[in-house]
This record gives sequence, C-alpha cells and structure tokens, in this order.
Amino acid sequence: MKLHEYQAKQVFADAGIPTPAAELAESVDEVLAAAEDIGYPVAVKAQVQVGGRGKAGGIKLVENDDEAREAAEDILGMDLKGIHVDRVLVEEAVDFTNELYVGVTMDRGEGKPVAMVSTRGGVNIEEVAEEDPDAIVREHVDPAFGMHPYQARKAVYEAGVDRAVANDVASVLRTLYQLWESRDGSDAEINPLMVTADDEVIAADAVMNIDEDALFRQPELAEMEDESAGGDALEQKADEYGFDYVRLDGNVGIIGNGAGLVMTTLDLVDHYGGSPANFLDVGGGAKAERIANALDMVFSDDNVDSVVFNIFGGITRGDEVARGINEALEQFDEIPKPVVVRLAGTNWEEGLEILNEDLVTVEQTLEDAVQRAVEYAQEVEA
Ligand code: GDP
Ligand code: MN
Repeated sequence: MKLHEYQAKQVFADAGIPTPAAELAESVDEVLAAAEDIGYPVAVKAQVQVGGRGKAGGIKLVENDDEAREAAEDILGMDLKGIHVDRVLVEEAVDFTNELYVGVTMDRGEGKPVAMVSTRGGVNIEEVAEEDPDAIVREHVDPAFGMHPYQARKAVYEAGVDRAVANDVASVLRTLYQLWESRDGSDAEINPLMVTADDEVIAADAVMNIDEDALFRQPELAEMEDESAGGDALEQKADEYGFDYVRLDGNVGIIGNGAGLVMTTLDLVDHYGGSPANFLDVGGGAKAERIANALDMVFSDDNVDSVVFNIFGGITRGDEVARGINEALEQFDEIPKPVVVRLAGTNWEEGLEILNEDLVTVEQTLEDAVQRAVEYAQEVEA
C-alpha cells in the first residue's frame, strides 16, 4: 500500500523529520486560500501515487495568485500517467542549494534492510542509479540491532554530504530507518531532501509504501488507504474480487490458478515473443463466478488484446471453470478480445465438452495456448 505524499510527510513530520508547511486543496479556491495562508512562493503538487510527477507536469512553482490559479486549473483534473488528479498539496517553496536523496528498502539479495544516501537527489535519481550506481552509498543494517548512529554518519560522509549538514542528514536517515521498521515499510524515501542556503535540511518529497501483509498491525496507516482516489482502478477491482493481481505493461491478458502456474504462463508469453498484460491468480477451487470476475478484470484493461486462460484442475474443477467462461462470455454480443483456453487436471474432459468453441479457442497444451494468444495479440497490434 502506498501513502500519498501528504500522508507520508505527516508520518515523517510526526517522527521529527522537517517538512515544509503545507495544505491539501481540492479546488482552485482552496489552492488560493492555502497559498494565502502559507505565503508565496508555493509549490502546487499533484497528489497521485506515481513517481516523476515533476517531469510529467504535475508540480508547479508559483509566485502569486494569477500563477497559482493557472497551476491549479492545469493540475486539478489532469491525467497524470493514467491517474486522475483531484487533490494537490500546496506547499511552502523551499529555496534550496542542493538536493539529496535518502531511502530505506529491503535488499532481498543480501536479505537485509539497506539505507541509501546520495548527493545527487532530485528528479534524475533513477538515471543516477543506472549510470553511476556508486553515487548512491548503501549501508546494510542488521535488523536485530537497528541502525546505529555511526552507520548513518558513515553513509552520509561516504556519500560526500556537506559537513555543515551531515549530522542533520544522518539523523534524518536514522529516523527514516526507524519509521521503515516500526511502520512495516516496504520502501521509505525522501527525494529530494533539500539543503537550504542556511544549512537546513527539509524533506521536499516523501514516499512511504507499507507492506500489505502487515497492514493489520498498522491501523492508522491502513485508514489512510484511499479506495476512491488515485491508485490503479484495476488493482482496486482485484482487491474487491480478492484476486492476486499485478498489472504489467504488455497486451496479453493472463488468467491462471496458482501463482506458479501463472508465472510459468507469463514466462512462456515472453518466450514466444509476446508481452504479458498482467499477473492474475484466481486461486484454488475457483467457482464459475470467480472465473467470470477474472475475465471481467482482463477485459476492462484497455491494453489487453488477447487472453490466455491456463487452468490446472485440482480442487479447481475443469467443468466449473468451463461453465464460468461460458457464462462470462455469453453476456457479450461480440467477445471483446479473443480468449484461448487450456484446461488440464481434474475434470478437464468434461470442461472441454462444456466449453463453447464459438466463444473461445481451445488448445491442448500450454505451449500451444500461449503461442495462439501471442499470435492473436500480434494480429491486433499489426
Ligand atoms: P516527483 O517528481 O514526483 O518526485 O516530485 P518531487 O516532490 O520530488 O518534486 C520534483 C522536483 O520539483 C524536485 O526535485 C524539485 O526540483 C522541484 N520542487 C519540488 N518542490 C519544490 C519546492 O518547494 N521548491 C523548489 N524550488 N523546487 C521544488
Ligand atoms: Mn521526488
């Protein structure tokens, strides 16, 4: 679960990390009122859970009412990387001399949390990470002991942070680590951590993602999860249906039962030159209604050009699945996207008899089914 910038900043501020004065606004008038309270110049910042808002036009610095009105009109209601903006954060503009980066995440390779510091913060940190990874200093933390103050200082000095602010940056880094740990963060990040001319450090942006599986013990954070605004509409739908779903950027929709089988299908789509649109696991014992819901999910993804259904019957029975597929597809006058089905395992023969081959393409093997779906998708693209 991702917090919005304004929510993450609240969490950071409560823990003692300096953040700019800010107010949330949902209309042009509210933006003007907030700017009045805070005093110009202010930054008007789209509150959507995507990175790179600055580059995408979701952040504007304004000096007066006219500019603020224009920025508010531009940003409120805009479509930012597919997400509708209905709130902005109006924030005291920080006059900075330097933009740093600090972050904490889990290093799965090492099996340890890692704290990171760089003097090359700002909007290009992803490029820095690719082109010059040494510009980001990494310090692994033993979770049994937490982050020692000396570790934070070491990372900050190694990164080459100006001595005048090194202690403050180290303290921010350590607080960030403590928050990451105590609030069950998956990622916590401040980019940029701005340094001002009078050697103050201030968190100008804030990212805090929470481990979904730990939300039950973070009730205040769980409450911040907002179902209506932002986020990926399809991922919200998947939550409602209770599916394990991840949206990807390809065009072959994938439905299967069991995470391993779905992953295999994904790999095969890739192997045959296609590109998966999603990971969708309908789980074990999937009844007809669940199957229909799964189809509804992939059909409502505009990127999907074809669908491959890969079911290995165990507790899930082939005849149930077939009935679900028929039920779902019979609602349409015209099937929105071609569907290829491969059924194996329990009751697969009954399933194949039930399946209406006017509505779907049936293949006997997984390889054939995937290849066929990839071909269909390529025909649409062509
Ligand atoms: P992101 O693009 O979604 O990561 O949004 P950020 O909050 O990190 O803002 C992107 C960039 O906008 C920053 O790196 C700054 O260069 C600029 N920016 C954001 N807030 C301020 C501010 O208060 N003052 C100034 N001068 N620049 C800002
Ligand atoms: Mn940022």
